[in-house]
Amino acid sequence: MLFPALHDRRETTALRFGDRSLTYAELATAAAALAERLTARLRSGIPAGAADAQGGSGRVAVWATPTLETAVAVVGGLAAGTPVVPINPKIGERELAHIVGDSAPELVLAAPGDRLPEGLATTARLDVDVLTGTRTDSAAPSDGDVLPADGDALPDEPAADTPAVIVYTSGTTGAPKGVVHPRRSIAVTLDALEDAWQWTSADTVVHGLPLFHVHGLILGVLGPLRRGGTVWHLGTFSTAALTDALANGATMMFGVPTMYHRIADEVEADPALAEALRGARLLVSGSAALPVHDQQRIHAATGQRVVERYGMSETMMNTSVRADGERKPGTVGVPLRGVELRLVDESGAVIEVWDGETVGEIEVRGPNLFTEYLNRPDATSEAFHDSWFRTGDMATRDADGYVKIVGRKGSDIIKSGGYKIGAGEIENALIEHPGVAEAAVTGEPDGDLGERIVAWVVPAGAAPDEAELADHVARLLTPHKRPRVVRFLDRLPRNDMGKLMKRSLPG
Ligand code: ATP
Ligand code: MG
Repeated sequence: MLFPALHDRRETTALRFGDRSLTYAELATAAAALAERLTARLRSGIPAGAADAQGGSGRVAVWATPTLETAVAVVGGLAAGTPVVPINPKIGERELAHIVGDSAPELVLAAPGDRLPEGLATTARLDVDVLTGTRTDSAAPSDGDVLPADGDALPDEPAADTPAVIVYTSGTTGAPKGVVHPRRSIAVTLDALEDAWQWTSADTVVHGLPLFHVHGLILGVLGPLRRGGTVWHLGTFSTAALTDALANGATMMFGVPTMYHRIADEVEADPALAEALRGARLLVSGSAALPVHDQQRIHAATGQRVVERYGMSETMMNTSVRADGERKPGTVGVPLRGVELRLVDESGAVIEVWDGETVGEIEVRGPNLFTEYLNRPDATSEAFHDSWFRTGDMATRDADGYVKIVGRKGSDIIKSGGYKIGAGEIENALIEHPGVAEAAVTGEPDGDLGERIVAWVVPAGAAPDEAELADHVARLLTPHKRPRVVRFLDRLPRNDMGKLMKRSLPG
């Protein structure tokens, strides 16, 4: 059973979004009503996932605003056994057309009052009502539209290999791909995190993450629900709202590096924030690399070492620093329970020695993996090396097995003067300079060196001297890691998760 708490922790608060909340009993009621309505509405019947005679996909899109309705829509969809496709409510026209065309949802679930874009105009809509189940929005509500539902009326649990969610990748390296996950990978991942983070029903997880990726939705909403604890969603992240949540019972925080960067900037001058963070049980960062400098500033002000974990849409979570293990800043920890991880060199040979130096591509295997990219059998088979998934991420591993991500294969590995240089290390060094607020490093073709190192810098105040920045990197690292070109920008291109979109840098 994916969420036993729906049955046995009925009075506990399951979800809290701002000042709206639902107990497990209320969530069960709303989810059961929605599941019933979905079953009745979908042409292809339930369980779904395969196209039916009329061409129905059986899939349901969720207009994934950071609201209770989104959480109910996903839990209801999972209960019905229909694959759920969460959609970024800030999505642009082109990306929406791609996702709608690719996933062909039969219905879109939204909160009453949500305005849906043109691209979803031809998809039938169901409004999610968190207190009374669901009713149709297009037709005038009639008696039959509002279901008096009972949590015990939740349908029988679908099989573990039923497609449960289709999450689209961030599109950092190309067009977003639809990643199909069965119920099993959700359960396995969340239970491995229970083990790594000593995560219990007593934990309240606070975050302000978007709900259309693995991080916010699977970890940040389904995670606490599987544990029988509480989700405290901030709607929009702010350090003031975070302080309030941590001071009022939240025990864990999930965030992306841009949020921890803000905390690092503000915590020294904000004793209430420092105090609240000091009292947290666990602060977790993921989705992109957390600069060591931000780690250190947070540690200095609060005594907390943020735990970093590494995952991706295709594999959910792969590694984490453990709550009970050594916290090594700059690393993403060790493989989670059940996850096999190896580094391979360019020829595909496994790197056997963990020396903390040799860089290889991370490959993973385990029950946390996706089943396929939707409609992309070619991309699915290319993504595997034998039965191992090629992550496209390059890393080193130290003698204790701790993984350190160096960057993405290709774009983040700069081949300069016969050396292979990871962009991340140089970015980390640049951020340590007092004149630098943010930095990104790329490679550019160079007649002599093959590629030259380019630093893109958002200055903290007046732009620092370029030569001084280059010297700073050479001094901290080694001379051949010195940026040859420094370009200043007002801000770096980032997506809604704060991920650097290097392919959107000018030039
Ligand atoms: P696309 O696959 O469409 O190019 P994407 O890989 O950014 O986009 P996601 O699946 O959302 O899409 O992100 C997974 C990637 O995020 C990982 O492959 C890795 O590069 C990066 N990542 C996640 N966690 C961390 C971390 N803790 N440190 C460094 N990188 C991380
Ligand atoms: Mg990817």
